[in-house]
Amino acid sequence: MPIDFSLKVAHPLYQDLIVETIENLAQMYPAAPLRKVLVYLQESAKNCADCANRSLGDATEPGAIRLNGYWFSKPPSALYSAGEADDFMPNLPKIRWHGGLPQPGQVMVHEFFHILRDGLGQDAEEFSKEMWLKATSEPEIVFSGYSLYNPSEWWAESGAALVLGENSNPQVIALAKFLTAIIAKDGTEGLTIPFDPSKHPRGPGGEFRKGH
Ligand SMILES: [Zn+2]
Repeated sequence: MPIDFSLKVAHPLYQDLIVETIENLAQMYPAAPLRKVLVYLQESAKNCADCANRSLGDATEPGAIRLNGYWFSKPPSALYSAGEADDFMPNLPKIRWHGGLPQPGQVMVHEFFHILRDGLGQDAEEFSKEMWLKATSEPEIVFSGYSLYNPSEWWAESGAALVLGENSNPQVIALAKFLTAIIAKDGTEGLTIPFDPSKHPRGPGGEFRKGH
């Protein structure tokens, strides 16, 4: 089923990038029941409970990725400066909150993986719970600090790391193996990643970074 994109309020520099990134992901992982992708503006919210929302995006509505217009209606420089807030964890000095991945790739893949997990059902739930439990007892093995929040965020954070080219973290490698096995079940060979990280620079002068 085609994905419905509602990007009227997205900054022109994001419009093609959002479609291209999401279409690539949907092709890689057809098991994700993604129906729509939208950029929303808080001003149009019915009540103002959401007005101070500075999150980059969410997948709280089933089948939908919602990207926050607070960031996505502005030029990419706004997100670049937000990337600077990807601080190291206070008690885990080598681990960043989102692993230091480039934006907006990180948020788009992260939200896509929430949808993918819904589509893969119990196997993916059990796998992410097992990996998350392991991480909570051995936190220095996670790719990002936010992975420790719950099994669902572990899955989404590790998925973003995988798609954006992390290939040395043991938990991300475990996720790659898990996904490859599922894809192989459907008759597709291996796991390919048609993703161009150079379109998601980390910040002014910043290089795309592998790992932490
Ligand atoms: Zn999430």
